[in-house]
Amino acid sequence: MSGSAIQNARILVGECFCRTVGYAVADAFEYALNCHCSNCRRTTGSAFKPFAGIARDKLRVTKGDDGLMIHGDATGHNAHCRRCGSLLYSVVRDGAYVHVAMGTLVDDPSIRPTAHIFVGSKAPWVSITDDLPQYEGHVVPR
Ligand SMILES: [Zn+2]
Ligand SMILES: [Zn+2]
Repeated sequence: MSGSAIQNARILVGECFCRTVGYAVADAFEYALNCHCSNCRRTTGSAFKPFAGIARDKLRVTKGDDGLMIHGDATGHNAHCRRCGSLLYSVVRDGAYVHVAMGTLVDDPSIRPTAHIFVGSKAPWVSITDDLPQYEGHVVPR
């Protein structure tokens, strides 16, 4: 990636549970959502996955590149730490975007999740207690 791609934004860092893999991403996310789909629940082991979307060239793996376990192909995959299993980010939208698993961010991003998506497949034991809008399925990002 070119250095110029992120020069105008604050840089956030993130890392996996065992700290083998680290990344840097511009604090310029275009959207952030809480996804309740069963895939996100399974890949994270959580009730839902808060993720933030940004153009792929604005994220750079800064350490432990060779420690990544990629599940999927070049145009769509989940990137986990091979050692501890943390889901760090997903490459989506034909490889153009990454969805950062917000739980792996060390720094506080400017953006906050603005909606719950795929609440149609929400875990029955979870109650959404905030006032964010809820969508049965996907929301097409702007
Ligand atoms: Zn790790
Ligand atoms: Zn999902």
